[in-house]
Amino acid sequence: MRKLCVIALLLLPAATFAQQPQDFSKVEIKVTKVSGNVYMLEGAGGNIAASVGDDGILIVDTEYGPLADKIQAALKSIAGADKPVRFVINTHYHSDHTDGNAAFGSRGATIIATDNLRKRLENGSTGGDGGALKFQQPPQPKAALPIITYDNHITVHFNGEDIRVFHFPAAHTDGDSVIFFSKSNVVHMGDEFIRYGFPFIDVNSGGSVQGMIAACERAAAEFPPDVKVIPGHGAVASLDDVREYTKMMKDTTAAVQDALAQHKSLDQMKQEKILEPWQKYSGNFVNTDAFIETIYYSLTGANGTAVK
Ligand SMILES: [Zn+2]
Repeated sequence: MRKLCVIALLLLPAATFAQQPQDFSKVEIKVTKVSGNVYMLEGAGGNIAASVGDDGILIVDTEYGPLADKIQAALKSIAGADKPVRFVINTHYHSDHTDGNAAFGSRGATIIATDNLRKRLENGSTGGDGGALKFQQPPQPKAALPIITYDNHITVHFNGEDIRVFHFPAAHTDGDSVIFFSKSNVVHMGDEFIRYGFPFIDVNSGGSVQGMIAACERAAAEFPPDVKVIPGHGAVASLDDVREYTKMMKDTTAAVQDALAQHKSLDQMKQEKILEPWQKYSGNFVNTDAFIETIYYSLTGANGTAVK
């Protein structure tokens, strides 16, 4: 099982994240109105948030390139007319969130993301959990690259609200953004918060479980209590869901920390099934052993290469 999973990862980097290999011709885009003028689009890959209004269309993340026409058609059904996407904001560099950038970029969208994300798209990147889960993402064409970048935060004044974009450092990767639609009261968490079980954390690209916990705690503390949460993957959620997931990450991290204090090896931790109490989070993509690895490499100082 584990071996199969790793092989699938190596062969199909575009389909790594919580998604099985896809025949894109069969994918349908599902549209959900979240709140105000913000919608969620689900197809294959990460969730898209769309702001649709008088100023036009802004989207957060782009799923996969072969889906661009279907995404455009879904946006037309919301807007009532075929309007181009004016802005794209990326939550992080992984292909299931950025592969469609080139399609929208070449149609005139201005792409906005962190400095680090741009570097990883431009130069290519090796992602992984610090251990056995590993994948290679090749350099992307110019049309896929962000034109506007930032290190800390940026605000886009669009469709009657301040769309606040925050760089959450060293969490899922070293180039993550969380996007808050201040009037619609919706936040897109990127892969800081997902609903497919144990999260994949890209330790090789500067992410860590400690950073994920800090990001989720910051979100729960800073955003309005009734904010609607768009996760990187899965259904619309609340900050209570984020808190429950944060608790799981803290408790599992404490279990690995305990084992480290007892000088247990990674193999011993797996053999002793130290994360057994959280078995319900084990998935096809990140199973319990892979999550032990993720936490282990996060805590012991991973072999990742942070972008300078
Ligand atoms: Zn990701």
